[in-house]
Amino acid sequence: MPVPLIACPVCGKSALRQTMVVTDANYIREIPAFVIRRCADCGTSAMDPMPTAVEAGQIYVSENVFSQPRVFPNVGLRLSRILEPLWAKFGKDLRFVVKLCARFSARRNTLSVLDIGCSTGGLLATFEELEPSFRLTGVDIDPNSKLQGFPSIADSIQIGDVRTMQFGKRFDIITMRTVIEHLTEIMPYLDHVVGLMKDDGILFLATPDIASARARQLGATWKLINDTAQKTGHVLWFDRASLRKLAAHLGLEVAYLGNRGEAFEHFPRWLRRAMAAAFGRDPHQGRIIRWYVPRLVYSLVFDGLLSERLGWGDVMYAILRKPRTTVRALSGP
Ligand SMILES: [Zn+2]
Repeated sequence: MPVPLIACPVCGKSALRQTMVVTDANYIREIPAFVIRRCADCGTSAMDPMPTAVEAGQIYVSENVFSQPRVFPNVGLRLSRILEPLWAKFGKDLRFVVKLCARFSARRNTLSVLDIGCSTGGLLATFEELEPSFRLTGVDIDPNSKLQGFPSIADSIQIGDVRTMQFGKRFDIITMRTVIEHLTEIMPYLDHVVGLMKDDGILFLATPDIASARARQLGATWKLINDTAQKTGHVLWFDRASLRKLAAHLGLEVAYLGNRGEAFEHFPRWLRRAMAAAFGRDPHQGRIIRWYVPRLVYSLVFDGLLSERLGWGDVMYAILRKPRTTVRALSGP
């Protein structure tokens, strides 16, 4: 059974304030509704009641929610056959993540990468494409991740809980792309992950920003809190300040923190109204622009390239560095 939230999952303090009520929760059957409470000390927001780790695991292992292949609603137009790969390349965040990791790595070549929550290996395949010298390992608890994984990556994917795995080495880069918001026991989990990092190594995190323009405008209807059409599995939410505090609790330094994602809520209200009146909305997801191909072009330009430049969007991207623990000898043999 889900357990009442009595202490902050990050800092352990008990000063929690209710900030939101979610009535038609699409999480697990045992949680038909929940509230979000925010820690007055570190700013982390958490689901109350909190599912147990076993209950949370249902979504990934038995329901395979995150290994389902993405289906483009290809309408058979030649234009969409050209645009979809372009969108996958520049509208999605995978290339952005790989370049960010390479930019902030202390060394350049033959780095070891561990992608935790790798799903079918999309991020690892992008590493393989852009940084062919990197040695790649993926971990996911969903067996489908390996079975349906990218052909060149599937052999590098291990199925199970990273905390019970033996790698025989530590890693230069560990990536957790939209993973930490799913963790019911975040601190023991991340403490273990930090133990897998090399000194001077980096931990990449991407996680929804509950203080973003989109989150503030949509409230409990923000799909990264609760999506009635598709399970998100989220139990924790951060903003820039609370993500910095999380890094401090883990003994990591913040080397980079920025946003990327949907640009629409950053436009002034008059422009949003004019756009909605002129272009309508996607009937399934409520995104701006009714028509598929123009929406693809819009998303590529605004949600991808522009928001990346301006730091807009409702997802945060962070690079956390593990400080060196040993003092380098100034002289010696
Ligand atoms: Zn806290």
